[in-house]
Amino acid sequence: KHEVVFIGRSNVGKSTLMRQLIGLKVRVGKRPGVTQRPNYYQFGDLLVTDMPGYGYMKGVDYRKQHKLRDLIVKYFEDNAPRIVCAVQVVDAKSFSEVVDRWDGRGEVPIDLELFAFLRDLNIPVIVAVNKMDNIYDREKNMVLDDIALRLGFSPPWSGWMDRIAPISAKKGDVDHLRKLLKDKLRSIKRPDL
Ligand code: GDP
Repeated sequence: KHEVVFIGRSNVGKSTLMRQLIGLKVRVGKRPGVTQRPNYYQFGDLLVTDMPGYGYMKGVDYRKQHKLRDLIVKYFEDNAPRIVCAVQVVDAKSFSEVVDRWDGRGEVPIDLELFAFLRDLNIPVIVAVNKMDNIYDREKNMVLDDIALRLGFSPPWSGWMDRIAPISAKKGDVDHLRKLLKDKLRSIKRPDL
């Protein structure tokens, strides 16, 4: 059994993306913070998992946010052997700003914490940088370099196109991510390669 897990801060467009990628009715626009359990979608022998969105949400208290983070961490620990890949969805416009704000407070930004945690578990991560349609063309490379840098990848981001996939889920612009996922799934069917 193989599994692909989608994670992301709430409101980054994870549901929109999953609906684009897998074409099923993924629940979009659900009240944030309400879904506290993973949602599963089955594709032949592939399990696709939608983890609850983490991070700050209006009306969801701090303790609940922590519980959610712990749930996500535990989920990956428990299921690591069957997880082929995690797709971490981030918001092109606010990612670097949010990371810097946390850094400034001396806290570890949850996105980076999870990113590092997945690496330690040897789970390959593709960072889907969503809402690229909000960024002016002339600023796209700069924004992506900033994100790469914060993830620990030395710019230019284009050197990391196997890990960083700029997308616009709303516009259906997800081809690069789809290709990365396909490659990943193809490679596990031939473990000798
Ligand atoms: P989730 O909480 O991460 O599942 O986010 P949703 O998929 O519910 O989307 C949150 C909001 O972001 C909605 O208003 C979406 O229409 C919007 N959104 C999703 N993808 C994109 C995108 O690629 N570009 C823009 N501009 N908005 C998007």
